[in-house]
Amino acid sequence: MRDGRFVFLRPHCNEMLVYVNPRNNLAHCFACRKNFNNLDLLLALDYSFTDAVALLELWLHLHQTKRSTRTTTEAK
Ligand SMILES: [Zn+2]
Repeated sequence: MRDGRFVFLRPHCNEMLVYVNPRNNLAHCFACRKNFNNLDLLLALDYSFTDAVALLELWLHLHQTKRSTRTTTEAK
């Protein structure tokens, strides 16, 4: 996290200048000035389209499970 925003290293240009826009969940690289989504990133890492979709679905499920557990814990 930097200045309240999620930041990460983009594999293509090796710069820690990628910010995620929380409004649309798209990333913007300030080094090469490109916009991309999480599917674009996985394809750039040589995942096939179907493997990338399956991985994102798994991560979404894990995130939702973790979030519902946390909500349940906080409610008690
Ligand atoms: Zn870039």
